[in-house]
Amino acid sequence: MTPSESKTKATLSDSHDSLLAHESAGLIQRYVFPKGTVLFRKGELRQCAYLIDRGSVSITGNDEGGEDKFLCHIGEGEIFGEMALVDDTPRTATAITDTECEIFIIPRDALQNRLQGLDPIVTLLISLLIERYRLTRIHLPESLRQDKDSDQFMNKLKRYHHITENSLKIHDISTQKDNALRELKIEQELRKGLERREFIPFLQPIIDLKTRRVKGFEALIRWQHPEKGLVFPDQFIPAAEHTNVVQQLDRLMLEKACETLPLLDEIGGHDMFISVNMSGINFNTQDIVQSMSNVVKRYNANPRRLKLEITESALIDDPAHAAEVLQGLKEAGFMIALDDFGTGYSSLGYLHRFTIDVIKIDRSFVSRLHDNEKSMEIVSAIIGLAKTFHLGTIAEGIEQEPDIETLCNLGCTLGQGYFFSKPLPVKDAVAYAAKDNV
Ligand code: C2E
Ligand code: CA
Ligand code: CA
Repeated sequence: MTPSESKTKATLSDSHDSLLAHESAGLIQRYVFPKGTVLFRKGELRQCAYLIDRGSVSITGNDEGGEDKFLCHIGEGEIFGEMALVDDTPRTATAITDTECEIFIIPRDALQNRLQGLDPIVTLLISLLIERYRLTRIHLPESLRQDKDSDQFMNKLKRYHHITENSLKIHDISTQKDNALRELKIEQELRKGLERREFIPFLQPIIDLKTRRVKGFEALIRWQHPEKGLVFPDQFIPAAEHTNVVQQLDRLMLEKACETLPLLDEIGGHDMFISVNMSGINFNTQDIVQSMSNVVKRYNANPRRLKLEITESALIDDPAHAAEVLQGLKEAGFMIALDDFGTGYSSLGYLHRFTIDVIKIDRSFVSRLHDNEKSMEIVSAIIGLAKTFHLGTIAEGIEQEPDIETLCNLGCTLGQGYFFSKPLPVKDAVAYAAKDNV
């Protein structure tokens, strides 16, 4: 037994189980390992890669067969063991920490979860690159390479290259091609739909829960599709977000809201506002504040009557930048509402950091107000939080009369939901407000 092997055995027995537990957790996590820890041993099957944040790791092995020897040190910021994210091939070397190390363990599951969340076209391209790289490492006759879906090809991969069904999941190319094609088709259709002015807003009334009078509306986009009829946003907003078409849709809804304000004036609704949803993707657009302000100026609209609804997820990626954009929108005169509050990260840290006027309490809590004690407590806590920060509250998804009294008692000011009205075409929404305003 070589000295390095004896060292390997000694540390493996203490840490092997806990290491395996870390690696199967399905999340990318950072761990501190003492000097001399065996991260993996030659011949083992392990499904994760390692990223060194601090310290250094020695790799021993021998590509040409024979006695293992020291191959290299791997240092801070470097990744090793990454092929295990793709193939179920046994480790060809042993990795031992040279010093105390802080290391991110990246399990294959975590990578797969992240890939699934990506734009399908990006997923397809990554998978194709991985497949091409893998094929360069495999010696196959040209005839077999031509037919990558054949049983013979798959059997050869499995037998000689230890590639299992599980490791193939990461680049299930045919499904990914279908997804990418579907996404490209929707993108084309979305652009055509924009040209043909097929997108329209429906307006859902927002009601003062005490006086039961209309205070404003939320603009909810609908696609009047020539073949499919009225299409709801959950069918196309995700694709629009991947393809950046969402910025144009959101700007269009802002324009439609500006066009509608004078119609509300005509029925005496000079104080009524319209909320417009704003996808987080807009935060990546350079001149978003300018572009939104230009719309308002063009229509000579009062931005204080326009509420921009943003979700918490829009604030998470780059909070400093998001805070700057929100400040800019605020200075341009817009009101800001935090949508779907309670479903995301909901931390107190936000509320003082971002310029927000209103919190929207998510429908999932409001709909369970009367059959779930926890929902009642959450809604009560959100309203308490809003009061502390001097913010307004709008409850979403009010479907029954008793919810209104409960929400009023808890101190919620405004609400919307099917109990009052479903989202309506603009003409009907204005008529709804006119009836209320006599
Ligand atoms: P959201 O902003 O949370 O909008 C509220 C959704 O709840 C709307 O669905 C509305 O029709 C529905 N709703 C309202 N009251 C009730 C109720 O009492 N019961 C139930 N069950 N549902 C109720 P919709 O119109 O299908 O919109 C879904 C989501 O699509 C919106 O959720 C929003 O995230 C997104 N969206 C809609 N329009 C736009 C838009 O112009 N731009 C962007 N970026 N996203 C939009
Ligand atoms: Ca909304
Ligand atoms: Ca919402």
